[in-house]
Amino acid sequence: MSDILDNYLFDALANASENTFIYVSNLKTGMSRWSRHAVDFWGLEEEYFEDAPKVWLEHIHPDDRSIYLDSINPILDGKIDQLSCQYRAKNRYGEYIWVESKGSLVRDDHGEPSLYAGLMSRIDSQSKYDELTHLLTGVELLHKSFEDNGSLMLIGADGLRNINSRHGLRYGNSILKYLADSIVDNTPGMIVYRFRGDEFAVYGKNVTVQEMSKIYKKVNKCCGDAESIEGLISFSASAGIVQITPGDDASDMLSKAELSLLHAKEMYKSGMAIYSEEIEQKQIRKNTVSETLLHSIKNGCKGFYLVYQPILSNTGDTVVGCESLLRWDAPNPAIGACYPDEFIPILEKNGGIMEVGSFVMREAIKQASVWQKKFKNFSVSFNVSYFQLEDSQFVPSIIKTIDEFGVNPEYITVELTESVLNVDTELVRKSFEMLKSKGIKIALDDFGTGNSSFWTLHNIDIDIVKLDQSFIRGLGSNEAGIDYAIVESVGLMCNRVGYKTVAEGVETDDIWKMISRFEFSGLQGYLFSRPVVIAEFEKILDKYNMAS
Ligand code: C2E
Ligand code: CA
Ligand code: CA
Repeated sequence: MSDILDNYLFDALANASENTFIYVSNLKTGMSRWSRHAVDFWGLEEEYFEDAPKVWLEHIHPDDRSIYLDSINPILDGKIDQLSCQYRAKNRYGEYIWVESKGSLVRDDHGEPSLYAGLMSRIDSQSKYDELTHLLTGVELLHKSFEDNGSLMLIGADGLRNINSRHGLRYGNSILKYLADSIVDNTPGMIVYRFRGDEFAVYGKNVTVQEMSKIYKKVNKCCGDAESIEGLISFSASAGIVQITPGDDASDMLSKAELSLLHAKEMYKSGMAIYSEEIEQKQIRKNTVSETLLHSIKNGCKGFYLVYQPILSNTGDTVVGCESLLRWDAPNPAIGACYPDEFIPILEKNGGIMEVGSFVMREAIKQASVWQKKFKNFSVSFNVSYFQLEDSQFVPSIIKTIDEFGVNPEYITVELTESVLNVDTELVRKSFEMLKSKGIKIALDDFGTGNSSFWTLHNIDIDIVKLDQSFIRGLGSNEAGIDYAIVESVGLMCNRVGYKTVAEGVETDDIWKMISRFEFSGLQGYLFSRPVVIAEFEKILDKYNMAS
């Protein structure tokens, strides 16, 4: 296989154009070869190197990393065969350059991915018009100078990645074309650009941001009507809008529109945001946190550690296990306290979740091996993000680590939140089968917060349901309340079908008293203990008389 990298065709093609870079990866050995142009232009160490996706990720603009990962991961897992995406990458001088990356997967005789051949072109040296939509490209917008008041909107299709992976790239392109037409139809007299990938930009001279938001609503309505108008599946769009004054710099304004679009997608999943200083500050913190997290990961996950929260039996007098929860001491004092609710979504976006997730898995299993020796039937759980399942090596690595530490898999639980199960059921099902065949337990976390709770229970084989803490905390003392009815019926239902249940967020004696009637198999909450470091946790075990 390695001689494929040395094929004479590679040299011939590699020198074809100054603005095009080529590379080939042998997926069996992990070795890649990049053209000499690429090595010089991007400042890579040498032509041949290992783990190219990881090395290349370092060159990609932090805001664009998720675009790249979303495109390359399904290829590396052999789920799709073609890649096409656009992003900014840093050259040897530290400048970010727009590139379009295209590539194809080659499979061996058994259908397994064996080779990946890629072509990367600088977009700033390309044609003025986009091939698919015939709109002006984003580069044309970057060259624009604003001489009037107006507004600029960046608008993108939500969940295009899912549409592409479910229906194929060609179908995804029809969606983009439909979105482009809807934008053009609703913006007479304005200039529409295909900014990049699934994002379009609209500049309206003398158009206020309020008028632009109305246009967004009309376009979004067209997206919702895609099924009835064009027979396509209906989808939604999100937008970021910024006001323009004469003399504004196009690239600054695009960054502001982009920040607002990101904010809209993150805050509301789908919707629209008008640029404000506050949005910018939030986004700046996110970027600082993101870069600092990646820095910590590069330093061998320095600053990350686990804390453990006890899970008690229904009677509240025995600790039956614990949940491992991640903590991070940011090395940058400007960041201050930063908890998982803030940093996990950032790690999921910048790709760091893979390495940190493996760190969590290993630490939790290592700790389980210590506590299992001392206490019989002691369960340790840890949280897993959906994105980790996308790496086909993750589940096998859990099994390997369990074997390495000689841990009883029956007392290891993997917690997954329900909201992510809607993504690729097949992938989840396969991962779960592999875990279960080893005896590892699966918990459905935050039950009741996703949009298809009962569908999930019906379709996916799990062991434990962790009812979301918002229901438990809302119990108060009102037995006629809706939360009471939900907690009671979920408890009953799970008991009937043989799922174990854990009630999270038990904060007061009143709540504990109230739920003790529902026969939850486990109780977790601040009433018993907050998540604590190992030494503190062992004191709790002593307190509950868990002598070996
Ligand atoms: P989760 O998995 O639902 O974890 C329970 C969260 O509720 C923890 O917050 C815990 O400290 C908090 N909690 C426990 N009892 C109570 C209570 O009585 N009252 C209140 N108000 N809160 C309580 P934490 O540690 O900040 O984690 C937040 C979320 O971040 C977790 O929610 C989980 O989704 C995610 N997370 C934490 N560690 C990891 C990890 O290692 N990997 C992944 N993928 N996600 C993690
Ligand atoms: Ca959890
Ligand atoms: Ca939870």
